[in-house]
Amino acid sequence: MSKIHSTVSRRDFMKGLGLAGAGLGAAASTTPVFHDMDELIASSGFSGSESYSRYPWWVKEVDKPTAEIDWNLMKPYDMRNSDKWATPELLAKYYAAQLKHTKECILNKTPGSSLKDYALFGGIKGSMMQNVAKVGTPEPNLEYLYPTDTLTSLGLPRYEGTPEENLKMCAAAIHLLGGRDISVVEVDDNVKKVLYSHSAMLMGGKPSRAIVWEDVDNAYETPEKMVIPNKCKWALVYSCPQSQLSRYQSVIMGKFGVFGAYSDIAVMDQRLQKFLRILGYQGVLDGFGGGNSIGSNSGFGVLAGSGEIGRHDYVNSPSFGALMRMSQFILTDLPLAPTKPIDAGMWKFCQSCKKCADMCPSGAISKEAEPTWEPTGVWNGTGRKLYPVDYPKCGPWRGMPPGGIGHIYEAGPGGCSNCQVVCVFTKTPKASIHDVIRPLVSSTSVFNSFFTTLDKSFHYGEAFVTPLGEVNVSPDEWWNRDLKTYPFKGRVMGDGWA
Ligand code: SF4
Ligand code: SF4
Repeated sequence: MSKIHSTVSRRDFMKGLGLAGAGLGAAASTTPVFHDMDELIASSGFSGSESYSRYPWWVKEVDKPTAEIDWNLMKPYDMRNSDKWATPELLAKYYAAQLKHTKECILNKTPGSSLKDYALFGGIKGSMMQNVAKVGTPEPNLEYLYPTDTLTSLGLPRYEGTPEENLKMCAAAIHLLGGRDISVVEVDDNVKKVLYSHSAMLMGGKPSRAIVWEDVDNAYETPEKMVIPNKCKWALVYSCPQSQLSRYQSVIMGKFGVFGAYSDIAVMDQRLQKFLRILGYQGVLDGFGGGNSIGSNSGFGVLAGSGEIGRHDYVNSPSFGALMRMSQFILTDLPLAPTKPIDAGMWKFCQSCKKCADMCPSGAISKEAEPTWEPTGVWNGTGRKLYPVDYPKCGPWRGMPPGGIGHIYEAGPGGCSNCQVVCVFTKTPKASIHDVIRPLVSSTSVFNSFFTTLDKSFHYGEAFVTPLGEVNVSPDEWWNRDLKTYPFKGRVMGDGWA
């Protein structure tokens, strides 16, 4: 089942918008004038951050996130509430359905959910449990000398730099490790509310614990609490892009995208934590998203400017749209220059675009025109004016293979991540006209409705349709792909377009 989409040249596309000849500056006086799109795209590299360049010029840095926050209404969310809807009876029912579904798929060799697809998924998921240790290692050795040789034992001082130098250094390191959109939030009393009061319950994992700040030198954990030192005043935030396999919706192969990213995060986190330790600082990790997290990664992502929140309640990254797993954060005492929230026009876009809501099979995503302060239930936090997702509807559709440890939401027969995949901003850098659309969306909302219609007309978001306009292969075809010509390199951290 191969489908070849017609492609649109940049010139034809600009003609269609009535912009050819006038220069893009006619669309928005706030942006530089470019004579053609190649000139515009080649200009990328500007960022308001003085430490290092995060984004192309069309991503504006702003003082406040584009979605409204009322810090007086916000309080640390108790993650034990997040699955209040999930009774043991309901979960047993979902699990039985998941088990039946899995066996049928394997026996019937269902494309995307056959045994080889499960093996592919299982291979990547196996490594995602590595970063459960949140408090960091004791002072490590330098990994090139005797194990007992540490900064202290050798009489060496710890690393010292300005906050700007430190951010630049961390960005360079994290980029190598595989993280993208590297950003920083300075943790004050308001930002502490973005951390949870208690971690979530895990299916088969650790029980919930309180998350508290104390005036201590080193983070520590007890069976009752996870303690963060007050001196960890900075959150280092990064995005991990998901694989293109995420587009194989509702089959286990699609879950490779989700859990492949979790696995990468587990590895990146360990490396980053040790990097900070060898410098002489500590890193307190968020969890891996499996339910044992210490705070809202989306909250940190929005505040740091890793992206803007979307109608689907994920962070939309300017680089990857919704196809990235978490704005992962690590709390550290290494002083870092904070980055600002961003405005790339994406939150504004959501107000006229309801594509993810239209394509959500459970009806969990709001179709209201305006965001609201009102949660749909205790599974939503407070103090943010958003489109709250009705998670009891979503939960049964998400899917989790039998025996897996994961958030209790994940117990279900489905395997849905439609809202991530279909998002208008979830496009690869190779999508021929998307480098035109993104700057325009950032500059003006005039074309927003048109772009949603255009996106739908390209069949983006339908099963197995990639946003390149050229590649559309079924899971079975994917196994037989020509490795010499297939456009994605493979799952390499940081290169999410595998
Ligand atoms: S994961 Fe699926 S069911 Fe849940 S909100 Fe997204 S589209 Fe809807
Ligand atoms: S699909 Fe549309 S409404 Fe949904 S998050 Fe993406 S841009 Fe926003």
